[in-house]
Amino acid sequence: MKVGIVGAGMVGSSAAYALTMQGIVNEIVLVDMNAALAIAQAEDISHAVPFVSATLVRAGGYRDLEGAGVVILAAGVSQKPGETRLELLTRNAEVFRQVVGQVLAVAPDAILLIASNPVDIMTYVATRLSGLPAQRVIGSGTILDSARFRSLLGRHLEISPQSVHAYVLGEHGDSEVLAWSNARAGSVPLLSFAEQVGKPLSETVRAEIDDGVRNAAYKIINGKGSTYYGIGAGLARIVMAIARDQRDVLSVSIVTSEVAGVRDVALSVPRVVGAKGVLQDLFPHLNESESADLLKSALLLKERADSVPL
Ligand code: ADP
Repeated sequence: MKVGIVGAGMVGSSAAYALTMQGIVNEIVLVDMNAALAIAQAEDISHAVPFVSATLVRAGGYRDLEGAGVVILAAGVSQKPGETRLELLTRNAEVFRQVVGQVLAVAPDAILLIASNPVDIMTYVATRLSGLPAQRVIGSGTILDSARFRSLLGRHLEISPQSVHAYVLGEHGDSEVLAWSNARAGSVPLLSFAEQVGKPLSETVRAEIDDGVRNAAYKIINGKGSTYYGIGAGLARIVMAIARDQRDVLSVSIVTSEVAGVRDVALSVPRVVGAKGVLQDLFPHLNESESADLLKSALLLKERADSVPL
C-alpha cells in the first residue's frame, strides 16, 4: 500500500518513521507546504530504510498522492505550552480547508487518517469538508490515551500492557473517560485481577493512573515542546490495521451517528478497523458515572464542532 502524509512536521515524520521501521507499507509520500522540510524528512527517514525494510520514502506534491490507500493529515500548527487542544481549532480548520480538497482530487478512494489536534474536531471538520462516509475519515482519537492507560495498568499489575484490555473513551483531551468498570486483565475483571495478584487498585493508585493518562501530553509538552513518537506509532498501528485488513479493535474517532443520545459527534469508542476503514462501532457497558462523563464529553465535542464555520 502507498501512504500519503500531508504535514511533514514532528507528528507526520514520526508516523513515517514508525511505518518505515515496521515495514508495513511499500511507499510513503511526504507533502508539506514547506517543501524543503518534506524533502529533508524523506531523505533522513529513507537513510534508515537499508537497516530495516524496503519502504520507498519520498517527498512530493499532491499529485504524487495518486493511488494512496491512506492519507494521514498531520498538517497544522502545533500545540504550544499551556494552549488547550481546543484553542488550536480555528487555525487548524483553515489548514484543512486548504488540504482536504487537494488530497481527494488525486486520491478519491483513500481513507483519511486525521492526526491534527484537536483531533476529534478536526475529524468532524475533515468528514464534513470531504463529504466522505464517516467510516473513511478516522481520527487517531484516544488510541494513544488507551495505550497509556494499558501501559500504566500493566506497570502497576506487573504484567504486559498487551494483556490489559482497557479503553479511554470520548474526547482525546481533558474530558476523556477512562473506562475502569469494564477493563480486564487477561479474561479477569481488572479489580479482581488486582486483588488476586496483591496489587489492589486503591483510590490513590487509580487517581495516579488517571492523572498519568489524562495529563501525559501536558507533561511531555512542558518538557520537550510537543509529543510525536507515541502518536507516530499509534498512527502506524491504525495504518497496519487498514493495510492488512486486520479488523483490530482500536479506540479511534469518527463521526458517530449517536453516542449517549448525542447525534453526529466525532469521538472515540472501540471500533473494528480494517481495509474499508471502520467496520463496526462498539459501545462498552459503562457504570453510571462513566456514562455521565461520556455524555458530558460528547456534548462538549458536539458544541465545539458546531461552532466551526464550514
Ligand atoms: P506537529 O508537532 O503537530 O507535527 P509541526 O509544526 O511539527 O506540528 O508540523 C506541522 C506541519 O504542517 C508543518 O511542517 C507545516 O509546514 C505543515 N503545514 C501547515 N499548514 C499546511 C498546509 N496548509 N499544507 C501543508 N502543510 C502544512
